[in-house]
Amino acid sequence: STSIAVFNRNLRVTDNPVLAAAAESEHVVPLFVQDRDLLGSSFSNHRRQHFLNAGLADLDSSLRNLGGRLIVRRGDPVAQIAKLAAAVDAESVHVGADVSWYAKRREERLRVELGRQRRRLIVHDAVTTIQPAGTITPQSSDHFAVFTPYFRRWQDTPVRPVLPPPVRLLLPEGVRQGSVPTGQEVAGWSGGESAGCRLADSWFADGLQRYLDRQDDLAGDHTSHLSPYLHLGFVSPVQLAARALETPGTGAAAFVRQLAWRDFHHQLLAARPEAAWRDYRSRQDRWRDDDEQWEAWCAGMTGYPLVDAGMRQLAATGWMHNRARMIVASFLTKTLYQDWRRGAQFFLDGLLDGDIANNNLNWQWVAGTGTDTRPNRILNPVRQARFDRDARYVRRWVPELAAIEDPAKVHQPWRLEGAKRRRIRYPEPVIDVDHARQEFLHRRKRT
Ligand code: FAD
Repeated sequence: STSIAVFNRNLRVTDNPVLAAAAESEHVVPLFVQDRDLLGSSFSNHRRQHFLNAGLADLDSSLRNLGGRLIVRRGDPVAQIAKLAAAVDAESVHVGADVSWYAKRREERLRVELGRQRRRLIVHDAVTTIQPAGTITPQSSDHFAVFTPYFRRWQDTPVRPVLPPPVRLLLPEGVRQGSVPTGQEVAGWSGGESAGCRLADSWFADGLQRYLDRQDDLAGDHTSHLSPYLHLGFVSPVQLAARALETPGTGAAAFVRQLAWRDFHHQLLAARPEAAWRDYRSRQDRWRDDDEQWEAWCAGMTGYPLVDAGMRQLAATGWMHNRARMIVASFLTKTLYQDWRRGAQFFLDGLLDGDIANNNLNWQWVAGTGTDTRPNRILNPVRQARFDRDARYVRRWVPELAAIEDPAKVHQPWRLEGAKRRRIRYPEPVIDVDHARQEFLHRRKRT
């Protein structure tokens, strides 16, 4: 018998339920389809493209070590999978469950197409998430809307066993490979399962223990940096969770909690796919459309050094620290009063780990339209400077301010005396944060 193992956000050989199940057939076709629609979209900026391509080359090499290789096609995934399934007369096609509207629609179309050919589509859970979306639910609804009760149930649910790579793969005769792309390291990021494993190993050896103390240190940036690897499935969330659950200490527990946040957003999006772009909880007040302020935010020129440092880090590297993400998102949605969708799209276009579930639902969380239980909380970019006490983060990303000696004034350059202030080519604040806060709270009260 022949099976097709479809790779999309499960680009690894270890702990891959899709590959493991397909490998039970006599012949296996490991297939990746370069989706023409995604290739042409903003999801595919050059950093992400290199990161993905390097991962595909790495996957091909791992599959070759097992006796197989990666078959690559380009076009509409459904049409390409169906065509290949017919050509090799596959009995079944294995895919990983995914949660976005786009992925679900693709799965439905594939089911119909394969059904027509009388072939089986087998969808595997717990491939992109630790607990399958839709399995942890409260009594009265199809998803949890608040993290804490979700997490309690999540902790009580056993994690499925980690799967080893298949021992051997045998391709059917005569399948053309197609061209496997190559990618380079970009801004220090190397794509692929091998690089992801190395990163995870060094994280568990040195990092995890102190995670809790150093999680919010903006300049130190001591978090795992595993999110881009998790997004494409170069590393398995189940394997990371299993490993962390075996590790004693508060660092490991805090890390597991963050992984559960990822599952939480995925279960929410799976139940409410429209929440990717529509308010999960409606905020009756109107957004403001000020293009000048929007452009200042995008360019890292708001006059608030922490906000600008975050936005410039994103532009330069495709990465932003979680604390900075919260600060810039709060600033855009609650201080400048701009629609969170604008910010979410900007992030998706720029982040290496850009992920519709994690990104858009975190934006809603910060904007007060999502699952945050404190929707009136506003992060003040001056007070948040406590996460950058020595101003190293701001100095690194906003070089105009690097020469100011007093860290407090790096964060508040408007407090410099006249002549000193005038020498620095850095904008005045685009808005008064205290005034904006009052206005926000006043408007909230009225709605
Ligand atoms: P660590 O602190 O090492 O955490 C380990 C893993 O837990 C992460 O890799 C991630 O998969 C998960 N995780 C951590 N925090 C969160 C969280 N708040 N929500 C969901 N999962 C989490 N994360 C993305 O993966 N993609 C995004 O596009 C994205 N956009 C965001 C936008 C905003 C406005 C905010 C506030 C957060 C966003 N996050 C996003 C969540 C978080 O910022 C990143 O997951 C984290 O910074 C990645 O760094 P790390 O891998 O070093 O995380």
